[in-house]
Amino acid sequence: MDKDNISAQDSYFTFLMKPLNLGFTQLKNRIIMGSMHTGLEECWNGFHKLARFYEERAKGGVALIITGGFSPTFSGRLSLFSSQLSNFLQLAKHRKLVKAVHVYDTKICLQILHAGRYAYHPFAVSASAIKSPISPFAPKALTAKQIKKLINAYAHTAGLAKRAGYDGVEVMGSEGYLINQFICSNTNQRQDEWGGSFENRIRLSLEIIREIRRTVGENFIIIYRLSMLDLHKDGSSWSEIEQHAKAIEKAGATIINTGIGWHEVRIPTIATVVPDAAFTWVTKKLKQAVTIPLITSNRINSPEVAESCLQNGDADLVSMARPFLADSQFVLKAMQNQSHLINKCIACNQGCLDRVFKGQRATCLVNPRAAYEDEYPLVKSAQVKTIIIVGLGVAGLSCAYYAALRGHHVIAYDAGNLGGQFNLAGEIPGKEVYLDTVRYFEAQLSLLKVEVHRNYKIGIEELRDIYADAIVLATGVKPRKLDIQGFDHFSVMDYETAIKNKSTIKNKVAIIGAGGIGFDVAEMLITQNENNNDWYQKWSIDRSYKSRGGVLQDEVNLTGKDDTNSEHENARTVYLLQRKNEKLGKNLARTTGWIRRLSLRKAGVNMMSDISYEKIDDFGLHILHQGKKVTLAVDHVIVCAGQQSENSLYQQLGAIGQPVHIIGGAKKAAELDAETAIREGMVLAYDF
Ligand code: NAP
Ligand code: SF4
Repeated sequence: MDKDNISAQDSYFTFLMKPLNLGFTQLKNRIIMGSMHTGLEECWNGFHKLARFYEERAKGGVALIITGGFSPTFSGRLSLFSSQLSNFLQLAKHRKLVKAVHVYDTKICLQILHAGRYAYHPFAVSASAIKSPISPFAPKALTAKQIKKLINAYAHTAGLAKRAGYDGVEVMGSEGYLINQFICSNTNQRQDEWGGSFENRIRLSLEIIREIRRTVGENFIIIYRLSMLDLHKDGSSWSEIEQHAKAIEKAGATIINTGIGWHEVRIPTIATVVPDAAFTWVTKKLKQAVTIPLITSNRINSPEVAESCLQNGDADLVSMARPFLADSQFVLKAMQNQSHLINKCIACNQGCLDRVFKGQRATCLVNPRAAYEDEYPLVKSAQVKTIIIVGLGVAGLSCAYYAALRGHHVIAYDAGNLGGQFNLAGEIPGKEVYLDTVRYFEAQLSLLKVEVHRNYKIGIEELRDIYADAIVLATGVKPRKLDIQGFDHFSVMDYETAIKNKSTIKNKVAIIGAGGIGFDVAEMLITQNENNNDWYQKWSIDRSYKSRGGVLQDEVNLTGKDDTNSEHENARTVYLLQRKNEKLGKNLARTTGWIRRLSLRKAGVNMMSDISYEKIDDFGLHILHQGKKVTLAVDHVIVCAGQQSENSLYQQLGAIGQPVHIIGGAKKAAELDAETAIREGMVLAYDF
């Protein structure tokens, strides 16, 4: 079958490709690009770039896009300079977005988000003056008069969205933002008509929907994002969720979207460790309570998983946000039965959320063009060049892919198989999806006819005589060797050997080095055949929903801290060690570091800082811990103390005058990370 002529009817994903009639309008399929703040919303010329970003996703076939959050008021902004829509003078730039998307018969809704006490500025407001554990700013309690004004402000923003041409709005009522703060009793301790009983606490959400509907009329989509699982003990009970959902429908919402967990709760909801479609059972539970369509979400990153959610009757629509950063053509590829060519989101948060929290523009670790479509357009290079790439870890793969995409003739060599460090990451429990990135690049190189030589260690002699416009060295890293007495003892192994031989590892282990890889290795050692039920139990999620908030206990909830003592003993004794005298994992990524620390603590891993290493012998690892001599009687010492660059070819090639470039870990092993490596590969390919 000619893939270019294939239509939605020919797709294997029949549930996903089915249109949805909303009465006054129709969605062409069941796939929604969920709200994702990119940071372009606040950049100079950002809306132009945002239009290119959305345009590429609309062209890729998605039925409906929900924008990043826009506040209806100044105090509701996430930070002082965050986006707001409340003035008609702002409409021109919004029209650009809408126009770019409508060309492809894709709908677009503006998300209205009031941060409440999550606002990172001193003008924060909330239901009550109770500070959030994840913000330094205490909010002021809104007066009754201010609440009325706020409802009008929501409606005003929705009216402006309609004038800009949007097909609808999404009212953000979940994840612990303002509306959620009114709903839950721990954050709403008001005595007036907006607090006290549940009916009073949901009044704000319902008044907002009613006022928006009154302002925009019937033929306009109103999506309400409902917190269906608060994941804290003061959260709503299931009967309250049902009661609220019915009232939302009655108030005039067109669709209800699923929200899971509050941002301040220490239970993972979107990270790599969360199983696929881990929360769609919650949406399904609500299906019998309402008649309007429901959207499900969280950790759905492939057409297969999305299709099975719909097939299973979990929801009417599926929302994915990060998967559209990873691959703008997700829907088209699903439609053309080419899901093997989808660049899967690996849920790492490194390129997207972690960057947004640092005030940087979001992009994607596996797709560095995301939100940079304007800077890196998909155009061929004016001149076809011959590019040799040595090393096909992710830096080399990325460079080979983008160079070939731009029309160059690419020949690539790897001494082993493709994927480098990602193959090791893929062996860590919960990170298996990393292997999909290797699979994706491999499939693309094959499509683009890149000449790939595996298990081929090309040497200087061959490279000296080869013709090339450019040689790219992406030869990666090797584990660092340490200068400790007894380092050659049989109990010592580097992380690469340990990961590749994990089944041979005995019960007592010391890990030297507590960076990303030390944490990964510790996670590997403590995880034994964990299944999905164990996962819910580990994180205290009550799937029977008998308890408020759907959570079994509240050991770390709403504290914002993860310094709890261990609660489970593990079959293995694991010591994770570092020389620095500071909390272990302090420099792990903001949105996922706490999960990794908590996971090890829950399993009873001994995390020790302020260590100096003395020697290794038959008695184990001898250390000084806070100045005191200690011997850790272990079977293995696994070294995760960083890397050294594999760059010997670089000097040699330079010396013989070949046009050579070096990228990724081969260039800089210190602080090497996959996001930088993949980006460097692309940026260099655009220079050719
Ligand atoms: P790393 O983050 O640099 O950590 C190296 C660890 O080894 C540190 O704990 C360091 O702490 C210790 N160390 C360094 N030199 C040492 C020496 N000479 N003797 C003893 N200990 C030494 O490196 P990595 O863990 O290998 O990770 C490499 C890169 O991959 C990093 O950028 C990391 O962020 C990334 N990565 C990320 C993830 C993720 O999930 N996001 C997972 C894996 C890797 P002390 O100096 O205090 O002892
Ligand atoms: Fe997904 Fe990671 Fe890309 Fe974010 S950076 S979209 S989590 S792959």
